[in-house]
Amino acid sequence: MLHPTSGCASARSACCPCARCDLLVGLPGVHVEHVDRRDGLLVVTVSSPAAPAGCPSCGVVATGRGRRRRVLHDVPGATRVRIVWRQRVWRCDDEGCLRKTFTEQLPSLVARRGSITTRAIGWAIGQLRREHATIAGLARQLGTSWKTVWRAVEPELVKLAVDETRFENVTTLGVDEHIWHHVDPRKRGPKELTGMVDLTRDEHGKTRARLLDLVPGRSGKAYASWLGDRGDAFRKNVRVAALDPFAGYKTAIDDKLQDATAVLDAFHVVKLGTAAVDEVRRRVQQDTLGHRGRKGDPLYGIQTILRAGAENLTEKQRARLTAAIEADPAHDEVFVAWQCAQQLRSAYHQKDLAAGRRIAEQVVETFHTCPIPEIARLGRTLRRWRDAFVAYFTTGRANNGGTEAVNGIIELHRRLARGFRNRDNYRLRMLLAAGGLIP
Ligand SMILES: [Zn+2]
Repeated sequence: MLHPTSGCASARSACCPCARCDLLVGLPGVHVEHVDRRDGLLVVTVSSPAAPAGCPSCGVVATGRGRRRRVLHDVPGATRVRIVWRQRVWRCDDEGCLRKTFTEQLPSLVARRGSITTRAIGWAIGQLRREHATIAGLARQLGTSWKTVWRAVEPELVKLAVDETRFENVTTLGVDEHIWHHVDPRKRGPKELTGMVDLTRDEHGKTRARLLDLVPGRSGKAYASWLGDRGDAFRKNVRVAALDPFAGYKTAIDDKLQDATAVLDAFHVVKLGTAAVDEVRRRVQQDTLGHRGRKGDPLYGIQTILRAGAENLTEKQRARLTAAIEADPAHDEVFVAWQCAQQLRSAYHQKDLAAGRRIAEQVVETFHTCPIPEIARLGRTLRRWRDAFVAYFTTGRANNGGTEAVNGIIELHRRLARGFRNRDNYRLRMLLAAGGLIP
């Protein structure tokens, strides 16, 4: 038989003299015997060069007992690819040896009982990690089942996930929760998962958010026990811990990360302000007109304007805001609340951190004395969170934004997979997609 590409007749010899085998197919440790295209498949027959083999039990040189054909799924190109490996079978001739026959193993080609080549598993992991691929889509491309692909990929992901070195060098840590399923918790366990995210900045000062782990539940306990499992070196390394205004996570940080500075997320603080304005607007609306806002009511018409930053309002929007406030003296309360929220917001918009901090401290000193109950309540909340609120300005704008970005990736992949039934698989897939596992 002629060599498929070079036409060289010695292709079936023990060691293929043609470097093109390796160049063309690139499989380590084997040479190409035959290439065929049939039924929309590229079929590549390979085998290892002949060499004496020792018995794995006793070491005595074994005798050849022929070949066994193993059909493997390989990385697809324009068509699906099958590798037919003519695997050598050996017999041990030592009479005292318990091992009768054994087959050659080439882990660089395929795992002992695998049906997907080692490099195709690497390819599949890369597709999941960078190309938003799904297991079902990879199974389609490889021409195999979902189960076969996942069985090949899962152990690799588990190996990466248990490697504790991936927790090294974390100096800024974020935490957040999300809902991962909507079925009965008695069937699938808690709907909420707490996610830990590495928010450490690189040498250019850029945050590259990386999902570190997902644990069941939404509680300070879930976070605290995960922190407990990480060990002293990890906990001592964390300097900044960002969080949303949820007391449970704060308790965990105070408890387990005594050396770290807790930072309340800026976005959520601004949101608390906007929510307070909304509450005042609804209350004043109800008090003045006796019904919920509807089309034509002055306060109803400005609800989106009240949520925007003052600096982003157009002339027309400003005019509408003024007109709505002037429509009734009772609306002054809404205007004052809006100004308070804008003041709170402006702290984060200062170029100078010291100026921002001064505004933040002023907010903490004054809001709780406000006669508007909703603003006073916001003031009390911020006083409770005082240190974590002001810490934004002393930690160079540490925030939980990267955690929200990771949540976006998680959501995308949950949708691509059309939901998950198994929490362990969910965790591994999300860790891979959101940068927590580095192959
Ligand atoms: Zn033996």
